[in-house]
Amino acid sequence: MYLDMDDAPASNFLQTIISEDLAAGRVSEVVTRFPPEPNGYLHVGHAKSISVNFGLAEANGGRCNLRFDDTNPEKESQEFIESIQEDIRWLGYRWDGEPRYASSYFQQLYDWAEHLVRNGDAYVCDLDADQAREYRGTLTEAGRNSPYRERSVEENLDLLARMKAGEFDEGAKVLRAKIDMASPNMNLRDPILYRIRKVRHHQTGNDWVIYPTYDFAHGQEDAIEGITHSICTLEFEDHRPLYDWLLEHLPVSCRPRQYEFGRLNPSYTVTSKRKLKQLVDQGVVAGWDDPRMPTIAGMRRRGYTPAAIRRFCDMIGTTRSDGVVDVAMLEFAIREDLNENAPRGMCVLNPLKVVLTDYPEDKVEELSAPRHPSRVDLGERVLPFTRELFIDADDFREEANKKYKRLVLGKRVRLRNAWVIEADEVVRDDSGQIVEVRAHTVPGTLGENPADGVKPRGVIQWVSASHGRRAEVRLYDRLFNDEAPDKGDKDFLDHLNPESLRVVEQAWIEPALAQARPEDSYQFEREGYFVADRYDHSTDTPVFNRTIGLRDSWSD
Ligand code: ATP
Ligand code: MG
Repeated sequence: MYLDMDDAPASNFLQTIISEDLAAGRVSEVVTRFPPEPNGYLHVGHAKSISVNFGLAEANGGRCNLRFDDTNPEKESQEFIESIQEDIRWLGYRWDGEPRYASSYFQQLYDWAEHLVRNGDAYVCDLDADQAREYRGTLTEAGRNSPYRERSVEENLDLLARMKAGEFDEGAKVLRAKIDMASPNMNLRDPILYRIRKVRHHQTGNDWVIYPTYDFAHGQEDAIEGITHSICTLEFEDHRPLYDWLLEHLPVSCRPRQYEFGRLNPSYTVTSKRKLKQLVDQGVVAGWDDPRMPTIAGMRRRGYTPAAIRRFCDMIGTTRSDGVVDVAMLEFAIREDLNENAPRGMCVLNPLKVVLTDYPEDKVEELSAPRHPSRVDLGERVLPFTRELFIDADDFREEANKKYKRLVLGKRVRLRNAWVIEADEVVRDDSGQIVEVRAHTVPGTLGENPADGVKPRGVIQWVSASHGRRAEVRLYDRLFNDEAPDKGDKDFLDHLNPESLRVVEQAWIEPALAQARPEDSYQFEREGYFVADRYDHSTDTPVFNRTIGLRDSWSD
């Protein structure tokens, strides 16, 4: 994949609209909002929405509100409210003032519902769900008026108050806007404004037994908060006429506008909260923040950085079409960030002992190596070199042709940042497995080529057996092995990658890596980028998660 990193962020049609509004004086300050429903953790699609809403406010000297769209108490919880705030802050965005809640506007919304009733713009309807569906008609056939549509204002006011007082059962009555049952836009066929739901709300407790629908809540909340540009995803395009109708029929003091952009759908990923919840509930992953999850908390634990996620959101642009974005672009963004910023270290994932027979048993050479090949500001690290070392078992063969650039019996290899060694013999266990390679150092090869002109075949990583540390390394890969795991009638659970996690319990790391603090990222040389686990890592029990390999192993 070719990407020109010098390109300005991809064009953003929303910025064009905002610039025109500011130039024409239609708005004096840009106010946006990010309106998550607290019914799950935020995912990579929300990161896009956050970067659009907070980003546009930032770029135009405006403000962005965080508003919990908490009108469906059954599926919502305080856990989600907290995780959402933490994730937004971690991404580096700050909302204006305190977080806001749709639920704190319930009284105002109710007053406005009465206003509509008084003006003959809303009525209480007793049709049950099945009947209502029948009356609604279809895309090709007009609906029919509800038999309750012509109730008097007095009767409607009385019934609405009694709905609010809890006199009726769930489903017995709803409040509907009186618009047009023949409208070609189904959303205008007398949409529901209020439902009876006798459930406790996480913010308002038992104060309410009727709850507003998304349509009745959203635009009105935007108006209360003085939102100028209400940005949402394309599935709300057909709701815009209703959004406008409600604002036109209510005594609101400001007139927000809704704009839609295409959802972010990365390949090899599902972003439906319902499906993510299923992965958690069925134990397919260890939780919402499992490093394989496309949640912000999961990406964080995997070692993705806020800079890389923001970079990715810029790179893909903001358009008016729903398309699939190659997840390799996200991986590209994190590799680019970590290549530039992550210190290097050595880790041996599949340890094979090497004993240097010419090297004294108690000798320790404190070699030093740069933490980063081009970032001198990151300084140097100490690498203790000793008689017994570990190399990766894949880096040794008894015999091999010249293409194998690692250690071979009778041949030489350079230990990275250290000596050139030559392998002499192998030691086997009772089953014939090689358990040790005996070798010797080639004199004068610290930072120099061998004087006899016999060059090493390649360079491999190593860790001192006496000074290195054991570590648990969790090798994560994509959760799904299908490009579009939930497309059409596919069941996403049929496309799980069986190799999305392999745990190496006894890897060896150089001592400097044990000093990592949780969430520090490194490049393990020749292996990939890894992060010290946010929860499980400590200097005594090092645990690292693979963020991403050095190269894309999925593309051909
Ligand atoms: P669900 O998955 O339950 O339908 P949702 O993804 O719409 O919910 P919300 O909490 O309502 O979740 O989303 C908050 C905001 O994030 C909304 O403005 C929504 O349009 C936006 N958003 C959600 N998913 C994406 C996505 N994949 N790409 C871009 N924006 C998104
Ligand atoms: Mg939604």
